Amino acid sequence: MKTTTITTIMAAFGLFGALPGAAPSACAQSGYDAQFMAYPTYSGDDLELSVDNSGTHFRLWSPKAQAARVNIYANGRHGSPLEVLEMKGDPATGTWTASSPEKLYGKFYTFQILFDGKWKDETPGVWAKAVGVNGERAAIIDFDKTDPEGWDADKGPKVDSFSDVIVYEMHHRDFSEHPSSGIANKGKFLALTEEGTVSPQGLATGIDHLKELGITHVHILPSYDYNSVDELNLQQNVYNWGYDPLNYNAPEGSYSTNPSDPEARVREMKEMVKALHDAGIGVIMDVVYNHTALNEGSNFDLTAPGYYYRHRNDGSWSDASACGNETASDHPQMGDYIVNSVKYWADEYHIDGFRFDLMGIHDTETMTRVAEELKKVNPSIFVYGEGWTAGDSPLATEHRALKENVSKMKGIAVFSDDIRDAVKGHYSKAEDRGFASGKPGLEETVKIGIVASTAHPQVDYSKGANSKFAYAASPEMIVNYVSCHDDLCLTDKLRKSLPEMDDSLRRKVARLAQTIVFTSQGTPFMFAGEEVWRDKKGVHNSFKSPDSINAIDWNQKARYKDQFDYYAGLTRLRKAHPAFRMTSADDIARHLVFDTYDPKRYSNLVSYTLRDHANGDEWKEIKVAFNGAAYPQTIHVKKGEWKIVAIDGRISPEGDLGVSKGGKITVAPYSALILAR
Ligand code: CA
Repeated sequence: MKTTTITTIMAAFGLFGALPGAAPSACAQSGYDAQFMAYPTYSGDDLELSVDNSGTHFRLWSPKAQAARVNIYANGRHGSPLEVLEMKGDPATGTWTASSPEKLYGKFYTFQILFDGKWKDETPGVWAKAVGVNGERAAIIDFDKTDPEGWDADKGPKVDSFSDVIVYEMHHRDFSEHPSSGIANKGKFLALTEEGTVSPQGLATGIDHLKELGITHVHILPSYDYNSVDELNLQQNVYNWGYDPLNYNAPEGSYSTNPSDPEARVREMKEMVKALHDAGIGVIMDVVYNHTALNEGSNFDLTAPGYYYRHRNDGSWSDASACGNETASDHPQMGDYIVNSVKYWADEYHIDGFRFDLMGIHDTETMTRVAEELKKVNPSIFVYGEGWTAGDSPLATEHRALKENVSKMKGIAVFSDDIRDAVKGHYSKAEDRGFASGKPGLEETVKIGIVASTAHPQVDYSKGANSKFAYAASPEMIVNYVSCHDDLCLTDKLRKSLPEMDDSLRRKVARLAQTIVFTSQGTPFMFAGEEVWRDKKGVHNSFKSPDSINAIDWNQKARYKDQFDYYAGLTRLRKAHPAFRMTSADDIARHLVFDTYDPKRYSNLVSYTLRDHANGDEWKEIKVAFNGAAYPQTIHVKKGEWKIVAIDGRISPEGDLGVSKGGKITVAPYSALILAR
């Protein structure tokens, strides 16, 4: 969310002095938090609620509570408890238990603990898997009844290498809310189940649009229950990205057709997953375990005060999220919580991947466990995150899941801010241009992006703008992008940084920028709607902007049809040619050879050859050249019979844009040239 890399801060922390083999307890840095390491832990799958033939069972983890109780309600919101169950403590596990002999399906509950002599506010707990409206009370439902037809056989796409994934990052409202979407269930999970929807001009929207575009996975912005949208007043059409978690293990109510029906949100989210899977598309959830919307009033704090968060030595809340608090993955019960929560989503909802918000707040050991444990549920699950924090943390830098530490985390990938900022310009300096928009001096950083931050004999990391060493051991550790929900979207960025330029030429710059992303090693990631030249009216932090800013206008698909076709061409090219999807750093070093240019004579020119049927490609050689200058530049290509795959803002994955004999070839301004033989 909101923030992006703070490389200078990370450098100031002295990131590069890692302490190999340090014990996990070294993570807990503040003296205040040391007390929590002595708490007993419990992470059985019966935490908080389980229902079986002997009745309904509650088990709350709260080691320092003096007493605990469960309030049973008839509904999710009103009235006094039907029954209050006093819980019995078990010091060995730190849990409190109570049971009812009946299956309490249809009822709701809250927990309450006595702490420091006072009863705390009621809370649905931290493991509520179904909730009533606004997530105030947990709900007891029969999950078997929420499965759509054919759910047992439902499966997401098989992924052999994460480099094969093409991510499309979308928000439910952005994608379907605009009247031009032709979608009935606007802003809902069910929007993604509607087939045959079209724009006013008759072009595919919704799930059909995704199929036509050719992406492999959607990454949906936070879809767990979050705090900021009042589910009782949905007619107000309040928009929010959802980076303010409330109930981590239940879907958000405003995306369901009835937030007051706890089963509806569960069933409808599963229907969405099923429809996407049926279309061959995987579903990645954006997860935000790094902070909670509330501090003292959060469900974490109402169940085990203090435990789930990091504090400074004086006991004040540490705030590496810049949202008022930061959670403590290095406290064992919290680390287990994160691992078990993503496992739950993977298992119950068949989720195919997780994007960790501000992953640098979590520790590398927990993230490694996340990847390991998810692999056991489904080896195709893709895990990546923001390898940075938004502020300082008591967690030692060598334990933070930062991009610089990605090679310590097997099975985890990070966003490349290197390629992002080098290609389009600095993420927060609106007027700053990048390689693709004519700013000189970023060639080496673009090359770092092309090789997915792996070691390459021709890449000089000392010239990198954001990173000074090859931090990725494998291209599967890198997600390439030029824009996402954060900061200016690509259209707005190009309008602000190229104020004199005509929009049609800016679209050409955008094509060049995305061609760099889609041909680079690593996993390409795009922001929804950029394929139809969506903008956000210059709003860079649109987390609570209205639909008029955030909704994608699907009339633009017809208006900018050639832009859409170009993006669809990029996905087809990438999927058809494994040379762009190599799986090891060695392969890249061996098969990808850069041309060298005298920096005194050339600027904004990067070109390379993918040689010897790289990664089993049917093409023996592929020549890729990027010209981010405002003038044409000439490159030298080996003599031979080349097919033209991309030239001057056009693309044909089949290579039927003409033939070339090689030799001196001109690359048009702001464009990519791709040749193959
Ligand atoms: Ca909510």
